[in-house]
Amino acid sequence: MNDHVERMVLQGKVDLPFTYSAGKTASRFFVELRDHQRIMGKRCPRCQRVIVPAQLFCKECFVETDEWVEVGPEGTLVTFTIVYRKENHHPKEAPFAYGIIKLDGADTSMVHFLGETDVTKLEHGMKVRAFFSEERKGHILDIECFRPIS
Ligand SMILES: [Zn+2]
Repeated sequence: MNDHVERMVLQGKVDLPFTYSAGKTASRFFVELRDHQRIMGKRCPRCQRVIVPAQLFCKECFVETDEWVEVGPEGTLVTFTIVYRKENHHPKEAPFAYGIIKLDGADTSMVHFLGETDVTKLEHGMKVRAFFSEERKGHILDIECFRPIS
């Protein structure tokens, strides 16, 4: 008897709406975005890193963060990717760009949209600035995007 089984690779898509409690740290992070247009991090008492977006625990030290620190709204574009292919689940029309941004005063980086309409002008290491949505709802998209500073 032959035990060989053909290995199958199946593809699918999952559309999974969900709701969750943001918790005390993320709730304050989102309230600060919504009500004050401030981007907040938290400092780890052990390694002193400022973690952005604010996290309850430092995942390097496994200790609770304890000090709120305002960061940005300017920062450095660490790297980016440009999305050219249109997919129904994309939040924007292609082409658009995602960036990894290290905000001034932060020791970690965050992912967000880049608002430069000509994506060919994006460069690693360029300075960017957060632009807030006019109508803010307590959501990461209260930061509409980051745009290059000329
Ligand atoms: Zn730490």
